[in-house]
Amino acid sequence: MDKGITLLNIAGFTVGDTLLELSYLVAALLFVVGLKMLSHPETARRGNLWAFGGMALAMVTTLLLHKNPEGEGISLTNIWIILAAIGVGAAIGWMVARKVKMTAMPQLVSLYNATGGGASMLVALLEYPAAAAGDVGSIVVTVLGLIIGAVAFSGSMVAFGKLDGRVGDIMKPFMTYINLVLMVLTLGLGAFIVASPNPPTEMIWAIYALFGLSLVYGVMFVMPIGGADMPVVISLLNSFTGIAAAMAGFIYNNQAMILGGILVGAAGMILTLLMCKAMNRSLINVIVGAFGGGVSAASGEQGTIKEITLSDAAVLLSYSQRVVIIPGYGLAVAQAQHIAQELDELLESKDVDVKYAIHPVAGRMPGHMNVLLAEADVPYEKLVEMDDINPDMPNVDVAIVVGANDVVNPAAYNDPGSPIYGMPIIDAHLAKNIIIMKRGMGKGYAGIENELFFNDKTRMLFGDAKSSIQKLVTEIKTM
Ligand code: NAP
Repeated sequence: MDKGITLLNIAGFTVGDTLLELSYLVAALLFVVGLKMLSHPETARRGNLWAFGGMALAMVTTLLLHKNPEGEGISLTNIWIILAAIGVGAAIGWMVARKVKMTAMPQLVSLYNATGGGASMLVALLEYPAAAAGDVGSIVVTVLGLIIGAVAFSGSMVAFGKLDGRVGDIMKPFMTYINLVLMVLTLGLGAFIVASPNPPTEMIWAIYALFGLSLVYGVMFVMPIGGADMPVVISLLNSFTGIAAAMAGFIYNNQAMILGGILVGAAGMILTLLMCKAMNRSLINVIVGAFGGGVSAASGEQGTIKEITLSDAAVLLSYSQRVVIIPGYGLAVAQAQHIAQELDELLESKDVDVKYAIHPVAGRMPGHMNVLLAEADVPYEKLVEMDDINPDMPNVDVAIVVGANDVVNPAAYNDPGSPIYGMPIIDAHLAKNIIIMKRGMGKGYAGIENELFFNDKTRMLFGDAKSSIQKLVTEIKTM
């Protein structure tokens, strides 16, 4: 028996440790497979479940098999506390996620980012004394975890406030300089803590100062960013949350946390860069620039508006060969995805080829339109990315713009003074006819006028998108 125990404890490594490491490896594989499946709407739901399975496995095996350096497992009292915390967190998350409206998804993502960053920040803050007693590597990851976690936390809270309309934009040019000073101070204090030979107890003031400074920097960093740049910032903060979680994983020497954090950090960074590319802007430009929500160069009226009657729209669409629906934020507000799909089916039954043009930042979150249209069972092959549909737009008989504005605004091409200048758009203006469905002359997210509405080929169909399409469907059916 004794010999058996000795064999199972080779170099202090027990069967339990091996099982724990193996479970982390399996969890990591499930994260990677889940992440891969998220890249397609058809597999995204299952991908989420796979990644959830990986996280559940890592949590259960940690609770059962984790041991501290003295070889003791997690005490029963602590297990109850952890289970209670997981229960409360899961219940709140479940209720919020069930209740949230599709249009408020970005706010929810921001809140989740904040909780992730906040958790990593607290881990770093609480574990600093232990880390400081260790080697320099432990201090570096703790300090980095604290800075990145705190910036992700406070920055995400500000982003939440902005998206929810509770916090306005401050885009004073001097904020860039204040932020530069704050960043240098934060990094300088972090370096001072790492390099200091003082015992950890004497450095507690510095770690709390770093904590405060990082929180302030997070607020100031997001404050001047506004308008159409918000999705990029949310994705960047998401990446920060992942990196902070990876740092917390290093603090606890926990492979599952390190890997999960790195995956989130890398995925968030890739998405950030892809969105910058979609908006034709560099990341630095997003962070220090004051894009969107600013004063538009083209804010005055640019011509006359022409409306279209339901019967004219019904005839135009029914006798077209090719129709492209361009959905935007208004489609989400009106929840018009199901009725849009019905219109699509009706037109297809009349041999009209119908496609959907998807702009990468249409709506209020990455993939917003894909999610909505998938919910309405629109076949994925009908969703065409901006780059693929644009060369075809001159051959399109009717472009129906449903609650989209900024993503079809030609000012992005021809108004250097416009805050969206340089952002790629869907070339609705090149279609032979353009029908625009919106409630009135309300502006889009960037708060600017849209010359497409004054285009000779454009006809406006005013009203809530859902009821307009509903009436259009009835009109086509009665033709
Ligand atoms: P948008 O520019 O915000 O325009 C939406 C339009 O929908 C508005 O002009 C509004 O006009 C109309 N609308 C609102 N409710 C409606 C309803 N019930 N029925 C019909 N129309 C309605 O939308 P977008 O073209 O999709 O562009 C997205 C913008 O948001 C971009 O500037 C993007 O950068 C930014 N953004 C994107 C994300 C993301 O990740 N996708 C996140 C944050 C911000 P009326 O008031 O006249 O109806």
